[in-house]
Amino acid sequence: MSEMHIIVGAGQAGGWAAMGMRQAGFTGRILLIGEEPWRPYERPPLSKAMLTAPEEPPPAYFHPAERYAEQGIELMLGAAVEEIMPTERRIRLRGGDRLAYDKLLIATGGRARRLPVHGGEHALYLRTLDEARAIRVRLREARRVVCIGAGVIGLEIASSACALGAQVTVLEALAAPMGRCVSPEGARFVERLHAGAGVELRCGEIVQAIERDGGSFRVICRDGVEESADLVLAGVGMERNLMLARDAGLVLEGGIVVDEHGATSEPGIYAAGDVAAFYHPLYGRRLRLESWRHAQNHGLAVGRAMAGDPAPYEDVPWFWTDQHGVNLQVAGLPAEAARTIVRVDNDKAFTAAHLVEDGTIIGLTAANAPRDIRAATAMIRAGRRPDPARLADPAIPLQSVQ
Ligand SMILES: Cc1cc2nc3c(=O)[nH]c(=O)nc-3n(C[C@H](O)[C@H](O)[C@H](O)COP(=O)(O)OP(=O)(O)OC[C@H]3O[C@@H](n4cnc5c(N)ncnc54)[C@H](O)[C@@H]3O)c2cc1C
Repeated sequence: MSEMHIIVGAGQAGGWAAMGMRQAGFTGRILLIGEEPWRPYERPPLSKAMLTAPEEPPPAYFHPAERYAEQGIELMLGAAVEEIMPTERRIRLRGGDRLAYDKLLIATGGRARRLPVHGGEHALYLRTLDEARAIRVRLREARRVVCIGAGVIGLEIASSACALGAQVTVLEALAAPMGRCVSPEGARFVERLHAGAGVELRCGEIVQAIERDGGSFRVICRDGVEESADLVLAGVGMERNLMLARDAGLVLEGGIVVDEHGATSEPGIYAAGDVAAFYHPLYGRRLRLESWRHAQNHGLAVGRAMAGDPAPYEDVPWFWTDQHGVNLQVAGLPAEAARTIVRVDNDKAFTAAHLVEDGTIIGLTAANAPRDIRAATAMIRAGRRPDPARLADPAIPLQSVQ
């Protein structure tokens, strides 16, 4: 009997893990099980072109359907795994069927966190293609839009709503936008970007309730401020799908704890992508990331490790966001910096390097400057301590700064 690898979650990490297993020479069965009815597709367009394009774009699949057939990867879509039984090495599907595995990958990602306030169900949330389609339809009729949350997703939705001509207000509980992803200087750039586009971005506003008001809604904040809207959207973070792992007794730390090869605390069970809290050799501790490149490369690396070709996963964290025509990219971990050196800061361009106490570069934030991001990624990986004076001089290309 050939060996059986089951992947729970047919998202980006799960799809790439399946490909990684084959790349590494695994010849047994691979079964990719996903709750959504689609094969793995890209989520980044959901908050961007999916909302703004005049014609609804087709889903951006990672791989054509034939690739799965060619690679001998079995897809079981529209099917949810309800239980993992590690001692028996079996899973139970919704409906009761049980399947045996030799190795299991949990790549269940996450879902949009719901606002825990009175009337939170009146807001629309975004994680899946179906949710994006629902928002797309409603955005076309909305004149007055309130976005709750100024994280990456909330701000991208705000930018898309603005591009469609709506009057947009963003309410953020924290003191600055994109709080966990950028430095205070980066946050100010983002604030200016939205102000320049006509979005009203208000920080320190804690939403307490959403009330229906005829055909529209009233968003009520703790300080008594009220905003009326004909569409309320919330981007208040992602909740990892941890139930299966928790019930199976796996060690969790806000995500499923895995080593640098994706192995969990339970023999034969692995985890990858957004759902994992993975050990990163460069930082010497565990990280949880929610980004496109991580989902792809972690999925690939863990898939290969499951097929017997382990190489420690040590990608430098990286993500991008598109807002009001500006492409903002962040490499490394800016939030952990002791000091930020701003190289460029004007209405359309921004580059800032982030250093820890001893001057080692830990991150770079750059708007419309992908080359700088590439240079900084190499510096971060190498643990460079660049000369601060040269770093601060925008006339010196970043790749020449040592
Ligand atoms: C709107 C949006 C825009 C984004 N834009 C960017 C961007 O611009 N740049 C960037 O770097 N990143 C972006 N991201 C983040 C990136 O898309 C995610 O990090 C990536 O999708 C994570 O992949 P994943 O496979 O780990 O999880 P997911 O994509 O969440 O996939 C997990 C899959 O598992 C399925 N599943 C869960 N539980 C079960 C179960 N019990 N049984 C069966 N199936 C199950 C789910 O239905 C889902 O399909 C964006 C994300 C969103 C939502």
